Order: sequence, then C-alpha cells, then structure tokens
Amino acid sequence: MSIVSALSKIKESIPNTVTLVAVSKTKPNELILEAYQAGQRVFGENKVQELVQKNETLAKDIEWHMIGHLQRNKVKYIAPFVSLIHGVDSAKLLKEINKQGNKHGRVVPVLLQIHIAQEETKFGFSKEEITAFLNSASFVEMKNIEVHGLMGMATNSSNKKLVAAEFAHLKSLFDELKSSVFSSSPDFKEISMGMSGDYDIAIEQGSTMIRVGSSIFGKRN
Ligand SMILES: *Cc1c(COP(=O)(O)O)cnc(C)c1O
Repeated sequence: MSIVSALSKIKESIPNTVTLVAVSKTKPNELILEAYQAGQRVFGENKVQELVQKNETLAKDIEWHMIGHLQRNKVKYIAPFVSLIHGVDSAKLLKEINKQGNKHGRVVPVLLQIHIAQEETKFGFSKEEITAFLNSASFVEMKNIEVHGLMGMATNSSNKKLVAAEFAHLKSLFDELKSSVFSSSPDFKEISMGMSGDYDIAIEQGSTMIRVGSSIFGKRN
C-alpha cells in the first residue's frame, strides 16, 4: 500500500480528536515528503541526530516530536525546535530540558513517560515516583517546561486484554493527576499511547495521540 493511502486509511479509522504522529524513524526524506504532501504535519523520531538532520532539511512547518529515550547530554540539540518530547522519564532529564529551554527562550512541551508494561526494560516513572516528583519544590520551580500529559507503552503482546488493562491504567493515572496536580493546567490534556499494533485498543481506552510508524511507512530494517 502507498504511504498516501495508508495514511488516509488510518485517518479515516480514528476520531478526528486523536492526533496522529507519523513515526518516520530510519525512513528517508523522500518518504516523509510523500506523507507531507498528503497533508501530514506531525512526525516522530527517536534518535536525536536523525531528528536534527531532518528538521534542517525538511519543511519548516513540520512539528517534530521526540518519541524515543532521550539522553540528557543531547537535549541541547533539539531544545531550540522540538514541538513535543514524549519520553521524559526522570527528574534529571526534565531539569535539563528546563535548563535548555531557558537558554533558548522557550517553554518546551513534554509528556511524562509512565511505566505501564510488564517488561522490566521499558522506561518510565512509576505512579509513586511521579506523584512524589510532581509535588516536589523542584518541579514547581521549572518555568521552561510545560507538561502536556502522559505517555506510555504497553507490553508487546497479542493478549489484547492485557494491553487494554495497561492503557486503562495510564488513563486512570491521567485522570487522577488532571483532577489534582494539574487541575488548573488546561495544557495537561494528552495521553500518548498506541502504536501500529495496538492503537485501536489505545483509542478505546482514551488515547489522544497515537504514534504510528510501520503501518504508514512499511517495515523498518
Ligand atoms: C518506533 C516507535 C513507535 C512506532 O512503532 P510502529 O510499531 O512502527 O508503529 C511508537 N512509539 C515509539 C516510542 C517508538 O519508538
């Protein structure tokens, strides 16, 4: 299937309130351009160097999202232009983003990554960690970041009940924070969950932002 028809098929199958992040990691500019010409403007990458290169060479009205694990020493390269950082998984990383945002005169939008999967290897805060951190003085002092919501990755499993339960867990934590810490923060509104294999389940569970790569651009090597 062509990129254009894959994109329109996905767009037709999701509510128009859900943001589609086209995950273009490892894919060349020509393919991104095909999606761009079909109207797609939000793209996700997971490597800093690739993200910087693509931002420099492609259209300026693209919104670039950093979706992968981000190392602190690389924040400085994307802080000037990144539209949203999905995978913020530690207080130290958030502190660095705040510092670089300040340096570039920007408030950088971020999502806090929550550990919802069974796998040990997936990054993210636990519920206890995030609650403690959001109530700490050091969070309140950060003026150059803006928390737009939460992000999570479900277990890579064909067990749909398990995946749905993990997404439901993220949604309930979101609701809890929305009615407490973020009760007067209208920007706290996104739940980034769902990829090619599970975005339909994620949307059923309240996702507002899906990150889809292979279903648009084909398999990666
Ligand atoms: C690669 C990646 C995706 C997209 O995965 P697909 O299965 O190709 O849709 C989504 N989220 C993150 C964090 C990724 O690294």
